[in-house]
Amino acid sequence: MPVTRKKSPADADTPAADATKATVATKAAKDGKARSKPAKPAASRGVVTSENKLAKLGLHTDMDLVLHLPLRYEDETTVMSIHDASLRGLQMVQVEGHVSACDIQYRPRRQLVVTVADDSGQLVMRFLNFYGSQAKQLAEGTRVRVRGELRHGFFGAEMVHPQYKVVLEGAPLPDALTPVYPAGEGLSQAYLRKAIANALTRIDLHDTLPASLLNSLKLNNFEEAVRLLHNPPPQVDEHALAEKSHPAWIRMKFDELLAQQLSLKRAQEARRAKSARALPVTGSVTEGLLKLLPFSLTDAQQRVLEEIRSDLRQSFPMQRLLQGDVGSGKTVVAALAAAQAIDSGFQAVLMAPTEILAEQHFRKIAAWMEPLQIGVAWLSGSQKKKEKTESLAHIESGAARLVIGTHALIQDTVQFDNLGLVIVDEQHRFGVGQRLALRNKSLKPGMATPPGSAAQAQQQTVPHQLMMSATPIPRTLAMTYYADLEVSVIDQLPPGRSPIVTRVIDQNRREEVIERVHAAALEGKQIYWVCPLIEESEALQLQTATDTHATLSAALPGLNIGLVHGRLKPVEKQIVMEGFSRGAIHVLVATTVIEVGVDVPNASLMVIEHSERFGLSQLHQLRGRVGRGSAASVCLLLYQGPLGGTAKQRLMTMRETTDGFEIARRDLDIRGPGEFLGARQSGEAMLRFADLATDQWLIEPAQEAAQMLLHNAPEIVDRHLARWLAGREDFLRV
Ligand code: ADP
Ligand code: MG
Repeated sequence: MPVTRKKSPADADTPAADATKATVATKAAKDGKARSKPAKPAASRGVVTSENKLAKLGLHTDMDLVLHLPLRYEDETTVMSIHDASLRGLQMVQVEGHVSACDIQYRPRRQLVVTVADDSGQLVMRFLNFYGSQAKQLAEGTRVRVRGELRHGFFGAEMVHPQYKVVLEGAPLPDALTPVYPAGEGLSQAYLRKAIANALTRIDLHDTLPASLLNSLKLNNFEEAVRLLHNPPPQVDEHALAEKSHPAWIRMKFDELLAQQLSLKRAQEARRAKSARALPVTGSVTEGLLKLLPFSLTDAQQRVLEEIRSDLRQSFPMQRLLQGDVGSGKTVVAALAAAQAIDSGFQAVLMAPTEILAEQHFRKIAAWMEPLQIGVAWLSGSQKKKEKTESLAHIESGAARLVIGTHALIQDTVQFDNLGLVIVDEQHRFGVGQRLALRNKSLKPGMATPPGSAAQAQQQTVPHQLMMSATPIPRTLAMTYYADLEVSVIDQLPPGRSPIVTRVIDQNRREEVIERVHAAALEGKQIYWVCPLIEESEALQLQTATDTHATLSAALPGLNIGLVHGRLKPVEKQIVMEGFSRGAIHVLVATTVIEVGVDVPNASLMVIEHSERFGLSQLHQLRGRVGRGSAASVCLLLYQGPLGGTAKQRLMTMRETTDGFEIARRDLDIRGPGEFLGARQSGEAMLRFADLATDQWLIEPAQEAAQMLLHNAPEIVDRHLARWLAGREDFLRV
């Protein structure tokens, strides 16, 4: 049926181009400027912006675009009659008809109401937000294709904010599902689709992997996989696409995991090709320290120490992650590693993420080193200028053999004499950049070089690096994200610890809890009282801590109640912590400043208020402050109900287990790997498609293929990395 109508902008397009350009989703209508000249979007003023927006999404090259895979698909391949659509219930349908009425109505509020009819019936499109141009575009008689959910409203069948496009009679339907891509703000799907479709016509999609490998792993061909994902035929298994379990997705995930393995292994090779000072001596400092220790090392400590020692003897830089649950005794292992560096004639540095923890390390380790006449320097951001200048001088002259501090250590003013070993405690608290900066404080050229080896003096050396973490990393994560590191695990707690009993208690039983604190203090025990985390406001958090301190002081007049929080001056903090260590303070009211590392073995009761606000690893860390001595320890998790689903899961987990690995595993289940590792660490650009929760089974084959290729086919490795990691290698140099 021929239709007469006013010419609307979209009519300028040929029907074929129409399919990619003229989709006017209501949201996309906001960037309507570029669209008002739809004939040549690529030449319009909007291009610069759109290109910038592509860049913002990290889409610079054709391959970037090709690997920008759809989030989901829309099925625009069929059109239904309005009558049939109205029988479908709430599901996406597409219909086509002519506009029979188009009005702007004002009751109950301003809206655009457009009636569309086909031979079988009619429906109303309702737009609560719209542009004047839309009202013009949808003039009576216009033919439109409409997609949305059909509801039965007061005035009959209607769609609220459907997608629609103006079409010519007989305009062909797309023969593939329409991809919906992840898009930044203001970047239209139409623009992205076009850009990606163009890239697909230009680029070389040859397989990077040999057919033999693909056959043995039953993997799809790369080009077919990519084309299918961007343009799936209508008969494709949509469920498998949505679940990313379709063979085309599997191919992409495998390639991605393989690229990750290859690049990490390459990074490891590159590191091994660098040189480091061998630190082979275990002499008087090591022996003296071992003699001073009031305990002997556990088997696990002994084993990891051997692993570290043999790394330090090598003349390429160690990069080892020392994992051990809270309280497993990592500090002493670190001190013994430092002793070996010092015995070998080099300096060692230990960096910790908080001032309290760094300070505690300093006190403990300096007390060990002092009788051995080993200079230990302290460096922190809040240090007085004079003290700092003195520390810096000792670090530079080499008078300080061991340096302990916070991230102040990475400042430019810090210049080492001959740094041989870098130790980072609670490494997950530091960003990649911070860890790198410390490692880059390598030897000054020419210093401490054996005489006569001028060539060696030329070569850049890198210190050995030991990273420590009490956040155990589940095996699958370690296999992927840490494939370039050596990992040591302390899987045993020192003897004589009794397990911590954890109880989850409604906070309206606070009085009882205070009573319990009182009783414990009278028995000579010490107590931590952790104040709620208030992420939105530091001031409020501080206020809560101060209030809690006042309440507890009033309720327990016979006891000495201390208070520590992030805003105290370092000396004030130090005085409080020292008082608690000595036992002069019975109850320590604290914010999360005590979360990591703090070690007061006599503390055996911990109360955590509003425990439902904390993350699982944070709760585990906090709880790890008790259970460090021989007294039976208790952790009381106060919560305010009603609890949400994940909060409940977290608290249950805490009640059921104290095993850090088990907690980490459950945390991974609850949060997923991205959040678990924190964006800073996960090398976010690396795993876009593979999901370690569902795709674990692909890791081992990827790892094996990586070994094989690195060994037999370096040119394939280069090709594969060029495709997958172009420009992203930075994430790997850590
Ligand atoms: P973490 O691994 O959490 O850093 P720490 O190094 O702080 O643990 O050690 C926890 C406590 O255990 C400290 O008080 C430490 O002195 C003590 N400790 C460490 N190793 C042993 C051991 N082999 N035997 C007994 N106590 C130990
Ligand atoms: Mg520690």
